[in-house]
Amino acid sequence: MKVRARKFEGRCARHKRYNPAVDGPGAIRGGCPRCRLLLEIWEASLCLNGLIRSFDPKYDDLKRPVEKAPAVDPRQMSLID
Ligand SMILES: [Zn+2]
Repeated sequence: MKVRARKFEGRCARHKRYNPAVDGPGAIRGGCPRCRLLLEIWEASLCLNGLIRSFDPKYDDLKRPVEKAPAVDPRQMSLID
C-alpha cells in the first residue's frame, strides 16, 4: 500500500498565497470554498500521518518525502509534530 509518497500541489486560484498549513482556518477570506477545501485536505493529511504513525511505531520521520506546499516555514513543522 503506497500512501505517503503522494504529493499534492493544491492552490486556490483566487487566493494563491493561502497556505492552510501556515495560515490556518482564520486566514480563509469570505468563506472561500476552495480555501476551505485546501484546509480540509491539510487536516486530513495530518490525521492520515497520525494514523500511519500509530500503526507503525518504528516509522522514521526523516524518510518522509516532501508532500506539503513548497513554502518553507518553520511554523509548519510544529503542525506536523
Ligand atoms: Zn480561496
